[in-house]
Amino acid sequence: MKQSRVWQSILNDIELNISKANFVTWFNNTYIYSVDGDRVVIAVPSGFSKEWLENKFHTQLLKYLTKYYPETKRIEYKIVSPGKPKQSKQKRENKEAPLLGEIRSANLNPRYNFQNLVVGEHNELAIAAGQAVVKQLGEKYNPLYVFGGVGLGKTHLIQAIGNEVLKNQPNSVVRYLTSEKFTSDFVNSIRNQTIEKFKQLYNSVDLLLIDDIQFIGGKEGTQEQFFHTFNNLYQKNRQIVICSDCPPRSIPALEERLCSRFEGGMIVDITKPDLETRVAILNKKAKLSGFEEVDQQAIEYIASSAVQNVRELEGYLNKLLANCQLKGINPSLQNTIELLGDDFSRIKQESSGPKGVLKTVADYYKLEVKSITGKGRKSEVVQPRQITIVLLRDKLKMPFEAIGKELGGRDHTTIMHGYNKVRKELKKDPLLKQDLDAIKEVLG
Ligand code: ADP
Ligand code: MG
Repeated sequence: MKQSRVWQSILNDIELNISKANFVTWFNNTYIYSVDGDRVVIAVPSGFSKEWLENKFHTQLLKYLTKYYPETKRIEYKIVSPGKPKQSKQKRENKEAPLLGEIRSANLNPRYNFQNLVVGEHNELAIAAGQAVVKQLGEKYNPLYVFGGVGLGKTHLIQAIGNEVLKNQPNSVVRYLTSEKFTSDFVNSIRNQTIEKFKQLYNSVDLLLIDDIQFIGGKEGTQEQFFHTFNNLYQKNRQIVICSDCPPRSIPALEERLCSRFEGGMIVDITKPDLETRVAILNKKAKLSGFEEVDQQAIEYIASSAVQNVRELEGYLNKLLANCQLKGINPSLQNTIELLGDDFSRIKQESSGPKGVLKTVADYYKLEVKSITGKGRKSEVVQPRQITIVLLRDKLKMPFEAIGKELGGRDHTTIMHGYNKVRKELKKDPLLKQDLDAIKEVLG
């Protein structure tokens, strides 16, 4: 039988067992390239189909192929570009299906794209760096390391990078995963003795997106494997983008060699969006949920609540939109206050208490709360600690005793001494005064 007939009949069998979308995605433009003794070579249109067929369909294909070529022991996949597609409707649909398939399989959420990402002062550098990476994959900033607090759009940004690359070059291989997934894949591959396969999976990657890298801290075996994966890709000029909740040096128990690799490219941070940007984000989200016009007073009310984490802001907006949809009414300032007012005043109370002050000061100086309450005496922590004392005393009217307790159990005389000292310094040091005013503004 002719090879093309064999392949057609194998495809007929496979088609019965998987969904239409999957079938089109993975088997379009495949054919038997050659049969040579125990080796069959299958032509595939992209590195991505190659990887997929190898990992998901290998056993099935082997079974089918041995029906026609009983000697078959090995299947190899050869990437052959499929030639210029005719723009018939069918072809276009097929082309779209693989694209969607690839986006899905790279673990990317198509909603996380650049169009939906609102640019503000807090993230413009990170976004610009991300766009530069898309334009010059592997050449410009490698790795790109993005860090920032929870819910501020890091995952959105790195997935947007992946989606944009796949849009521009549908055949490129993009892999998005969290460092926890990397760890569990690695551990499983050792357990199942499939470590070679694990390594191979990363061989063909053009763009590796690793989210929440901070969780790799303390995991020695995984760090070692990640170091090799990183080097392997880096040497081949493949692009790596990493996200974290802190700079490389602040990841606890991170090997020095990984730390310096991470620092070897471009490091950018994402901070909290200002009021204007929060308004823009909420408007964008409302529009994406199908609400063309939401009362601006309602939007501004949500945006100026004490909630600064974008994910939570989005949560409150969704609550409002769902509620209004259910009742068949339009969101107004009045019904927004009714629905969210209690939540917002509770959050405001919490964030303006001592814990809120500590957190705000820590965020402002890009420190952890525990370094402010801790014993460290370096000027990087001493000044923020003194600013905290002033705020707790002047703004919250706390007794020195209570402030001492809040600051890791310090003696009240130490606190009093610190307070008087900063008060004097504030008169002489305009920069210190500027810091204090900026923090007061955040606290509202
Ligand atoms: P992180 O990974 O930093 O914790 P995410 O990327 O998961 O945060 O973002 C949380 C939510 O906020 C997502 O739904 C994301 O789309 C949204 N978001 C964050 N920043 C922006 C922004 N600048 N524009 C639009 N949406 C944003
Ligand atoms: Mg995230």
